[in-house]
Amino acid sequence: MKNVAWIGLGRMGLPMANHLVQAGHSVKGYDLNEESMTRAEGVGIVRAESVRDAVAGADIVFTMLPQGADVLGVYQDPDGILANAALSTLLVDSSTISIAACSELHSLAVAGGFRFLDAPVSGGTMGAEAGTLAFMVGGDQKAFADASTVFGPMSANIFHAGGPTTGQVAKICNNLILFINLSATAEGAVLAERLGLDKKKFFEIASVSSADSWPLRNWYPIPDVVETAASSRGFDPPTFTARLAMKDVSLAVEAAHDIDQKLTLGEIVQGFYGELIEDGLGEKDCSIISRLM
Ligand code: NAD
Repeated sequence: MKNVAWIGLGRMGLPMANHLVQAGHSVKGYDLNEESMTRAEGVGIVRAESVRDAVAGADIVFTMLPQGADVLGVYQDPDGILANAALSTLLVDSSTISIAACSELHSLAVAGGFRFLDAPVSGGTMGAEAGTLAFMVGGDQKAFADASTVFGPMSANIFHAGGPTTGQVAKICNNLILFINLSATAEGAVLAERLGLDKKKFFEIASVSSADSWPLRNWYPIPDVVETAASSRGFDPPTFTARLAMKDVSLAVEAAHDIDQKLTLGEIVQGFYGELIEDGLGEKDCSIISRLM
């Protein structure tokens, strides 16, 4: 069993860390938000007073934070990870962040003499609660093997994607395809209904034909077709917010720009989410994109 430090106990971090406690690991957690800290203590996570306190004596440190700048801050702060963890500690970032920030983290860790993995996850808050996330991991093979036993209780699938940043590449490109796919599904579904086809009949046909896809089956954006889809409950509570969709698509657009790749569809979808956020719908489910069609 390992001594785990966990920084960032929000919607994803808390249930993930909870699975480690349930599996018998000793988890010390830190979050800026007092409510998150109280909830964490409630599931048996030991309260740390700072990042410095959390990483003392840790075998492995996880960060699960909103943005790349947050992760870089927690790593570089004089009271942060790099200045205070032992060199034997394995460092893992599971946040979804830009390739540029991820690359900088790898460089900082290597310069400091640490082993570091980028290990973003797919599966959302439901996957985090159920312990069925997919981990996509970039970095050294041996470090990956060492971390795998700790990924286990939180996940249904664990992939070593390749070298540094490849976990983040997998995550960003997967979500780019997801949101382009969702937009295409919304456009086709709205058109079918306006052309006079019964919405349930179209779903029945498309879901066994060549338009079938994961968002079509799980996030159908027209209400009362797929009972469990957020559209059938007014897009609230969200499965995955429009704001987070905007974040992930924008990370793909940014990464493509950095290597001079044209991302025509990604930029269109980014525009859709920009419009929804401007209309005050950022906290609604991302499938509310059908409103724009
Ligand atoms: P969240 O906002 O619920 O949680 C983030 C937590 O980090 C908050 O509790 C916040 O107080 C804490 N925090 C921020 N800065 C901190 C700091 N400097 N020190 C300590 N704590 C700090 O976000 P979330 O939904 O848990 O997402 C976390 C990461 O996971 C993001 O990068 C997100 O893109 C990614 N992700 C989210 C989902 C999802 O469905 N929510 C799915 C996959 C990946």
